[in-house]
Amino acid sequence: MHHDVIVLGAGLAGLAAARDLAAAGTDVLVLEARDRVGGRVEQARLPDGRTVQLGGEVVGRAHTAYLQLAGELGLKLVPSYVAEPGRLTRATPEGRSAGDPPHWFGPGDAAVHARLGAEFTALAATVDPDDPWSHPEAAALDRLSVGDWLRSQHATPPVVRLWDIGQLALAGGSYERISLLAALRKSAAVAGSGGSDYDYDDWEGLRLAEGSATLAEVMGRELGPRIRLGSPVAALDVRPGRCTVRVATGETLTADAVVSALPVGPLRSVSVTGVGEARLASLHRQRHATAAKFAAAYDRPFWRAKGLSGLSESEGVLGSTWPQSEGVLSALVPPERYGVLLGTPPHLRTAELLSEVATLYGDEAHRPLACYLRLWGTDPWTQGYVTQWPPGEVMAVGPLHGTHEPPFYVCGSDQWVAGYMEGAVRTGRAAAEEALRRG
Ligand SMILES: Cc1cc2nc3c(=O)[nH]c(=O)nc-3n(C[C@H](O)[C@H](O)[C@H](O)COP(=O)(O)OP(=O)(O)OC[C@H]3O[C@@H](n4cnc5c(N)ncnc54)[C@H](O)[C@@H]3O)c2cc1C
Repeated sequence: MHHDVIVLGAGLAGLAAARDLAAAGTDVLVLEARDRVGGRVEQARLPDGRTVQLGGEVVGRAHTAYLQLAGELGLKLVPSYVAEPGRLTRATPEGRSAGDPPHWFGPGDAAVHARLGAEFTALAATVDPDDPWSHPEAAALDRLSVGDWLRSQHATPPVVRLWDIGQLALAGGSYERISLLAALRKSAAVAGSGGSDYDYDDWEGLRLAEGSATLAEVMGRELGPRIRLGSPVAALDVRPGRCTVRVATGETLTADAVVSALPVGPLRSVSVTGVGEARLASLHRQRHATAAKFAAAYDRPFWRAKGLSGLSESEGVLGSTWPQSEGVLSALVPPERYGVLLGTPPHLRTAELLSEVATLYGDEAHRPLACYLRLWGTDPWTQGYVTQWPPGEVMAVGPLHGTHEPPFYVCGSDQWVAGYMEGAVRTGRAAAEEALRRG
């Protein structure tokens, strides 16, 4: 069967690309390995009607492509946990504290922390997020980890620890293993940054009232029979005028052009011919942070009575918690602790994670209505969580990152500065636009 365009993967990127291609009158087919659309956005529904987000969840005011698409689909954005009243909890092996400063800070640490936030955002302003390679110091900034940079700027150990516990809460990998250039690029990609390495309003201040995965579900319904579920792509041969896609069942399909919206891990398992060696090397070089998401639904947000927001940063197996909606707590297990979770016998995992939540918020944590644990790091069709950029990686992946080689177009959150649903929507729509421009 021949199509104008075949899109590989029905995550937000593939769906957004296919939607724009279909709207322009293109005969488009989407091939998806799973038996559902959405990829890294997925939701469950509780008997009382509340949705529970098991993957991507919040967006920020700087996520313009996502906000625009949500508007086009008639979906409503509401404030996320960032607007939740109460204090943030921090937990480390030696103690626990609520609000600022953290319990391990001594005199002078808060001032050093504020100075470094300002220095980081000033340095980020010198990086072009679309072309970090053009920075005069690009290679040197890429070689340094954020941890190394903090120490070179006379950060005290308690301040380095605060930056790292915040980063592990986001589950993108410790700042000891993240390129400074990658972190600056990410910060430069959004408007404000608010005097810190990560501004929560810019990145996480909003969520879809209907549930984040609804964005994918609505696009999936719009595209209807143009999507083929349960169709893992095994091989791809790219030739001008005729690309051939082989599905794992052995069936072959052809198209004038192909849009790959696959995460970088699963893409490495697809045999790709007819694409330049340098491009494939760049795509195959990228890697993911492996993470897990845990969600526990309660009948009420019991942490509020203690003056707590439900937001925490922790050095347990959990790196963070936050309220995803009324009474539903989200939590992330960062890559550094993912192996510990996998080593825990499956029948003990939920109880042990709930014990960590109880340490933060009290014994009521042991009595959820429902719990969900989603091991994204070892999911065969994701093989990770979000793109991870260790020192040296921005230069090694190089300026081919996020670019196309017609009739082979590339999109997906891994092709933006730092993953995120914004990256998926932005690159998906950009790939469709480029494919349409080239005819
Ligand atoms: C736990 C978790 C929490 C997150 N939290 C947030 C958040 O709060 N805010 C935010 O903005 N982002 C968040 N993200 C990131 C965000 O969800 C992703 O970056 C985004 O959804 C990725 O979209 P995508 O379309 O690029 O890739 P994916 O959603 O991974 O879609 C790729 C699709 O390709 C399919 N596929 C893979 N291999 C094949 C194959 N061989 N053949 C056919 N199909 C294949 C997959 O099944 C999948 O459907 C989170 C991610 C996770 C996992």
